[in-house]
Amino acid sequence: MKRAFAVIGLGRFGGSICRELTELGMDVMVIDKSEEKVNEYANLVSHAVVGNAVDETVLKSLGIRNFDHVIVAIGEDIQASILTTLMLKELGVKNITVKAQNDYHEKVLSKIGADAVVHPERDMGKRIAHNIVSNNVLDYLELSDEHSIVEIKASHKLDGRSIIDLDIRARYGITIVAIKRDKEIIVSPQASEPIRENDILIVIGADSDINRFEKKVM
Ligand code: ADP
Repeated sequence: MKRAFAVIGLGRFGGSICRELTELGMDVMVIDKSEEKVNEYANLVSHAVVGNAVDETVLKSLGIRNFDHVIVAIGEDIQASILTTLMLKELGVKNITVKAQNDYHEKVLSKIGADAVVHPERDMGKRIAHNIVSNNVLDYLELSDEHSIVEIKASHKLDGRSIIDLDIRARYGITIVAIKRDKEIIVSPQASEPIRENDILIVIGADSDINRFEKKVM
């Protein structure tokens, strides 16, 4: 079934979410207080509305609580973002994702019941930093403050060596959950699996352990 999404705020982040959801064939309504922004997206989406999201009557008249998922992508105006989230919550919206501008904003959003809080600039910054420090780190997903899943490209140092031979779990305390090799993906590889240069290892573990492994295989 087609799911209905509402995107509030059409800055770079909200705009990108909106385009991608439309590409995926979803029903999307957009709301922005700027008429210019709304006009930019009017042809793309099923419903484009000029309105102030902080105004409860606007949200109610749009039947916001009937949407499956609402994304609050109001950027700079943290107060408006918090108030909008609070009202969506009070109106009974089941799924609310909000973009946070900073850590304090993130904390407040979680406290008032946002179902997901995203922090794209911070997360992207972290990913890029890892990638800059080590060309071998292709992607990075934070699981908690101390644990991550990382994609590491196997250098020549690992070529031909098996997971057991490298004794990865005992020596580094990390686990290789999958190996991507060209188009193939080996999920839960056997300990005897030989790693080849340029394999992409998907590794889970504590950040400090992953960092030790990264340094070793660089
Ligand atoms: P980004 O960092 O994602 O580019 P911006 O701060 O540039 O975010 O954009 C946020 C968008 O949200 C703008 O288009 C702005 O007009 C819109 N916006 C801000 N406050 C409200 C509000 N109260 N109601 C509706 N839209 C809003």
